Amino acid sequence: MNYQAILEQIQTDIAPLLGQGRVATYIPALACANPKDFAMTLHLVNGESYHAGLVEKRFSIQSISKVFMYCIALSLFEENIYERVRVEPSGNPFNSLIQLEYENGIPRNPFINPGAIVVADMLTSYFGSSAEESILHYFQNTCDDFTITIDKEIFNSEHNSGYRNYALANLMKSFGNIHNDIEKTLDTYFNACSISANTAQLARSSLHLANNGIDPITANILLNPEHTKRINALMLTCGHYDASGEFAYRVGLPGKSGVGGGIIAIVPNIMSIAVYSPALNVHGNSFAGTKALELFTQYSGHTIF
Ligand code: GLU
Repeated sequence: MNYQAILEQIQTDIAPLLGQGRVATYIPALACANPKDFAMTLHLVNGESYHAGLVEKRFSIQSISKVFMYCIALSLFEENIYERVRVEPSGNPFNSLIQLEYENGIPRNPFINPGAIVVADMLTSYFGSSAEESILHYFQNTCDDFTITIDKEIFNSEHNSGYRNYALANLMKSFGNIHNDIEKTLDTYFNACSISANTAQLARSSLHLANNGIDPITANILLNPEHTKRINALMLTCGHYDASGEFAYRVGLPGKSGVGGGIIAIVPNIMSIAVYSPALNVHGNSFAGTKALELFTQYSGHTIF
């Protein structure tokens, strides 16, 4: 298949859509992104990669970090996670408080904010003051790229404006589902969200999720096959908040978005994909990025269904 030609076709097709939707502004530092930026990378398990657009441009991975935090937690805590975070789609926005109140502070899944905050709390308990460094190192290892850093400007901006995340953490603490200081746990969470990477690095970081947990380039075992299955299942059912059904319906691949404008998607046994375009739809998912992935599955025929 001529993947480069497919990417170029997608770039042409989505050009009129760039700038539609809105860049996130509730984290002030994200508001500086250019709504017309676009990049896309395909990384095949055979080692080949294909790119279109601003592939060098780094952006904060935001909620895509929830996938990597949950991978670490699954490896460390196995079944003990489920009493604190469930694995059901929420059908609610990523930062909603309502469901959490009537479900006794137990988040629906690890890919909405409260779920990821509980996972951050578990990692904070386990790693102590090196939680932030341990998550970054895990991510660098999946990319096999140790130049990846945390963008402290984004971190500070989110830390200073994270009112809803403080509210979520406090509510869960009142139910006994946050064990550390709110500040410490949110510090871990905000740092993970502020990891900065480009589409080439992001696609590379999730390549093992297309290959039963083994990095096909280095042969490192990053996740066991059972956990890899679970991560992909969660990305399919919960990876796009209250638009997860719509994403599965239109794209037909497991995927995870972030409010920075990035999305990763997995074609099992074939490739990982990363796309970037910072203008978001009403659900907080990249507008053009989602469309680019839909076109990709249409043109390539690669879908899990
Ligand atoms: N850091 C963001 C927040 O907590 C993550 C949300 C997202 O990427 O969807 O609000």
